[in-house]
Amino acid sequence: MTKDAENVQRETLKKILEENGSAEYLQNLGLHGRTDPESFKACVPLVTHQDLEPFIQRIADGPPASILTGKPITNISLSSGTTQGKPKFVPFNDELMETTLQIFRTSYAFRNREFPIKNGKALQFIYSSKPSRTKGGLFAGTATTNVFRNSQFKNAMKAMQSQCCSPDEVIFAPDFHQSLKGVLSSRITFSSVRSAMAKLLKPNPELADLIHRKCSGLSNWYGLIPELFPNVKYIYGIMTGSMEHYLKKLRHYAGDVPLLSADYGSSEGWIGANVNPKVPPESTTYAVLPNIGYFEFIPLKVNAEERVQDKVDASFISMEPKPVGLTEVKVGEEYEVIVTSVAGLYRYRLGDIVKVMGFHNSTPELKFVCRRNLMLTVNIDKNTEKDLQLAVEEAAKLIAEEKHEVIDFSSHVDLWTEPGHYVIFWEISGEVRDQVLEECCNCLDRSFLDAGYVSSRKVNAIGPLELRVLRRGTFHKILDHYLGLGAAVSQFKTPRCVGPRNHKVLEILCDNVAKSYFSTAF
Ligand code: AMP
Repeated sequence: MTKDAENVQRETLKKILEENGSAEYLQNLGLHGRTDPESFKACVPLVTHQDLEPFIQRIADGPPASILTGKPITNISLSSGTTQGKPKFVPFNDELMETTLQIFRTSYAFRNREFPIKNGKALQFIYSSKPSRTKGGLFAGTATTNVFRNSQFKNAMKAMQSQCCSPDEVIFAPDFHQSLKGVLSSRITFSSVRSAMAKLLKPNPELADLIHRKCSGLSNWYGLIPELFPNVKYIYGIMTGSMEHYLKKLRHYAGDVPLLSADYGSSEGWIGANVNPKVPPESTTYAVLPNIGYFEFIPLKVNAEERVQDKVDASFISMEPKPVGLTEVKVGEEYEVIVTSVAGLYRYRLGDIVKVMGFHNSTPELKFVCRRNLMLTVNIDKNTEKDLQLAVEEAAKLIAEEKHEVIDFSSHVDLWTEPGHYVIFWEISGEVRDQVLEECCNCLDRSFLDAGYVSSRKVNAIGPLELRVLRRGTFHKILDHYLGLGAAVSQFKTPRCVGPRNHKVLEILCDNVAKSYFSTAF
């Protein structure tokens, strides 16, 4: 399939438009049955979630109708909504389920070729979100919850030796803290969880002693995972993007066990599979599967020649970005991803930035870079989630020398002060001396290398960076806050940059500041 990605893309678009041509949204765009990419691009506008919100809301409110898709949508997914601070509704259907399984099967096949698990099994940690119903009666949960609930899920996972080991009651438990079982303590109060687990857990003092001995023999928990599971082949999970910060910790627990980053997708639809599982997570790429959606890419860097041309034809300059097709992307360039999905999204700006690292046959292999709008900016400066992560990594080296680590971090642009300045929030594993934290604060300030930032700092158009150290447990409070809004632990992403409208998260952060420092680096 990847050998002929261009044609597969044409066919995929044709299939999507044929199946959904009768939907109200497409009917109004004047395609008149045409399914070729050229007509599609000419008639269908690029949209954001905000543009589609009224359509999705009508789907959620009912009654069932052919609004975005030919067949009415039956489930709603709640995306994590990390950026806006509230979950977004996106449509979910059987076709999206099928593409999910395809991605799972594909990456499993590549993984199993490199790391065969033979008769082994996978121990999976999966958690659903709190289920709810929309006004129109549609089931609403996170996309992963919709996947776990689907009748096809269990059989498909069995076929790839990845059965779930927890009873459904635990996976779908009303409170995830109670799903983290072990000894069935009095803390587990939901009777459904108690009775499901009571059937499985028997006291086993010898095993308990063995585990105790093994754990006592570890130095600072290094290599815990292979100690408890001596036959473990690898550890699999999303380890790129906003998860990259946790890699160091995971590697510590994993010892020599290989870490494999899982696939790239979103509630809106899947994008690529990790087909090079031996590559370490820091360098993982995702090969786009050309039949799971129709993909376009907005180049972030308009090439110089085009700019000159635009000047000549000044009257024709259009502000509308010009996306390129899947097979037209260039190695080394960065793009914003546009998805046309099997679940009723057409030319939808996903909001992710990716970099093309190479090709697998004729389909690109993408590296996830960052979310487009998670951006620290006061005036002419632009720092992305990735820039923030690099700055934090650099400054964290200073506390690593003191045998401490940054458990989690976030950021915010404070425009209440004049001039505005960056605020970085850190939760640290223990007490660190003020002098070291002052150095960390200076190091953070110096580590944002963006020319706009450096020049603004030099003339004090951006104020000194502020490092706020949080009390232990603050990020758990943020997790709990999102779970309360309907997020699922399996899909939760720590917000790395908190906007001014995300009041609740900002309040949690600001209410838990133990100490704060201002940079003297400039
Ligand atoms: P959600 O819809 O809540 O599942 O969030 C989807 C978003 O998570 C994507 O748009 C990406 O920004 C991010 N994401 C998903 N998969 C990956 C991955 N493999 N690496 C990095 N970020 C990812």
